[in-house]
Amino acid sequence: MRELSAGPRVLLRRLRELMAEPLEPQERLDRIVRQIASNMVAEVCSVYVLRSDGVLELYATEGLNPDAVHLSQLKMGQGLVGTIAASAQPLNLSDAQAHPAYRYLPETGEEIYHSFLGVPILRAGRSLGVLVVQNKAQRTYREDEVEALETTAMVLAEMIATGELKTITRPGLELDLTRPVTIEGDSYNEGIGLGHVVLHEPRIVVTNLLNDDAEAERARLAEALGSLRISIDDMLSRREVSMEGEHREVLETYRMFAHDQGWVRRMEEAIHNGLTAEAAVEKVQSDTKARMMRLTDPFMRERMHDFDDLANRLLRQLTGFSGSSIESFPNDAIIFARAMGAAELLDYPRQNLRGLVLEEGAVTSHVVIVARAMGIAVVGQAAGVVALAENGDPVIIDGDDSRVHLRPMPDVQKAYEEKVRLRARRQEQFRALRDVAPVSTDGQKINLLMNAGLLVDLPQLAESGAEGIGLFRTELQFMIASTMPKVDEQEAFYRNVLKQVKGRPVTFRTLDIGGDKVLPYFRSHEEENPALGWRAIRLSLDRPGLLRTQMRALLKASAGGDLKMMLPMVTEVAEIRAARDLLQKEVQHLSKFGHSLPRRFQFGAMLEVPALMWQLDELMEEVDFVSVGSNDLFQFSMAVDRGNARVSDRFDPLGKPFLRILRDIVRAGQRHSTPVTLCGELAGRPLSSMALFGIGFRSVSMSPTAIGPVKAMILQLDIGKLAAELNAYLDQDGPGESGREFLTRFAEENGIPV
Ligand code: PEP
Ligand code: MG
Repeated sequence: MRELSAGPRVLLRRLRELMAEPLEPQERLDRIVRQIASNMVAEVCSVYVLRSDGVLELYATEGLNPDAVHLSQLKMGQGLVGTIAASAQPLNLSDAQAHPAYRYLPETGEEIYHSFLGVPILRAGRSLGVLVVQNKAQRTYREDEVEALETTAMVLAEMIATGELKTITRPGLELDLTRPVTIEGDSYNEGIGLGHVVLHEPRIVVTNLLNDDAEAERARLAEALGSLRISIDDMLSRREVSMEGEHREVLETYRMFAHDQGWVRRMEEAIHNGLTAEAAVEKVQSDTKARMMRLTDPFMRERMHDFDDLANRLLRQLTGFSGSSIESFPNDAIIFARAMGAAELLDYPRQNLRGLVLEEGAVTSHVVIVARAMGIAVVGQAAGVVALAENGDPVIIDGDDSRVHLRPMPDVQKAYEEKVRLRARRQEQFRALRDVAPVSTDGQKINLLMNAGLLVDLPQLAESGAEGIGLFRTELQFMIASTMPKVDEQEAFYRNVLKQVKGRPVTFRTLDIGGDKVLPYFRSHEEENPALGWRAIRLSLDRPGLLRTQMRALLKASAGGDLKMMLPMVTEVAEIRAARDLLQKEVQHLSKFGHSLPRRFQFGAMLEVPALMWQLDELMEEVDFVSVGSNDLFQFSMAVDRGNARVSDRFDPLGKPFLRILRDIVRAGQRHSTPVTLCGELAGRPLSSMALFGIGFRSVSMSPTAIGPVKAMILQLDIGKLAAELNAYLDQDGPGESGREFLTRFAEENGIPV
């Protein structure tokens, strides 16, 4: 076996000189392959670059037929080169032609070479191309030669990533780095956003690749690893962390990785081969990522994220990098993140946000709730999207269709521009209705309210033309806080809300936590059926201190004004009485200490649990108003989990059973002259809100974006006519039209926009 003529350090030094020389890209590439071939005593050295059409094209060669350059090509997964790119793994073969994937390319004249070593050219775990050396003699390349070639491939990755090869790419073709990709995820909020990628965890770009002094770099790495380990131990020893199971587990994993000898050894080897400490961290990170990205086991993928986080921390230590690498924040930002906290999203300038793309998340995750409040499109569960994107890449997020189009082709871009224009025109029409009263053609006035929960929602009140806030979900503010908000903080927050709504009514719902609404600082127990568990008013009555604090804050914030408060998830009327007793105590307490109280006070309950249907008369007598939480009432009436996509659409809320339930509630309200409103998602869709007016609702609360479309529907609706037909329909039994069919036909026949 022949020895290397010179160590990889010498090679890297030469490459560095070549990179610095003012050369044309092709010339530079040609010299690089010549240099590698001579240094590694190989007869052949070739570079294949991955194009956006999934083809690996020969860009430069020493040893193969020079006429084959830019002609020879292999598809991803095809031949040895395609296999390396697809698997992101090196291939080291003493007899290449014996390998089952071998594919003969006659134009290259490679048949005389037997041994073959190819490594992927990687960036952030993605293959950008393949670097190959070949020899006539049958030999197996040594481990250190593989390592050296991988290190060299990093230099090429950098060259490709900087876009230098664009000028030698044939017209009409693009390199993979600019390849358009469409990723499908889950829609968490509808809407369309056109803009540019902002990576939430910006990629640290290592520009200083090659070292002058391996010993010094090794010392830098050791020092950075030392402080990393100390900082992890530090975090683990903090009291609050030691309490929390999941967070602790992540840190334990970090600690395990940080002490992993294999990881450290591979980084030291890369330094030995000539890389700087940070380039060594990046190289090993990229290799590991490439390997782990192909794993399907969710547990292992999770570990990959942990490992990636740890490597990023180490990179930050070594480069002193902190904060965003984007010099100017785009005014049409679409944030890409693996996962993120709600408060982090609020840190971005809201007016510049067009969308949010998450690799993880769930419809009910806090960040999604906040994004929805901000009115931006959200796509979640978009696997692998962060590694595919670079800061500043053009992107389209389609929250209606659950897709993300990264670096879209011009025709896709055009189609979306048109779609956005249409949407904008529709929004414009709705905006024109902002100051028009929602009165039906037969003169019935509807009270249109909006749902809110955060300060970011409030500007929408004026923009949408809603008459007030029919549901203020107070728990959202608690969910984005890192500790339990104190009474003064709560009071200041509610005061701020009341100030911003400028006299319009707000219905505050007391804390609806538990179930899937978890407070990070409030310990509760694992539950088999959280939706049916210790939540909302149940939890509040068991922890009266929590409810009393909130009541006190609300009473103080609305001193001298109006206060409207309602209780979530009531099951028995007795719960309302118990909560009222707590409120009385607060009122007495405040009066005793000379605080002024609200001028007018209304106390209501949400109707979300079917058991209340058999206490309707008692309920209506007990409260000042009732608000139907149709999301939960439907979930419990039909026994379908609202968060489980498999069953949540199985039954139709516009079917006879649910419409009859809702009608019974309205009628009970009428019997007792108790106002009844509805604040679930049902109110926000024109067809279903039309049905609600037909069965007697005159007040509904919905997301602010729905106000315009619902108002446009009301302006064309003859409620009396609909009521007569719909009631007759609901009174009938037997087969026939479904509720939805009936309503759709009515809308069509009467020219009602739904
Ligand atoms: C409902 O259940 O319909 C409701 C409005 O409450 P939430 O969606 O917050 O559970
Ligand atoms: Mg509810």
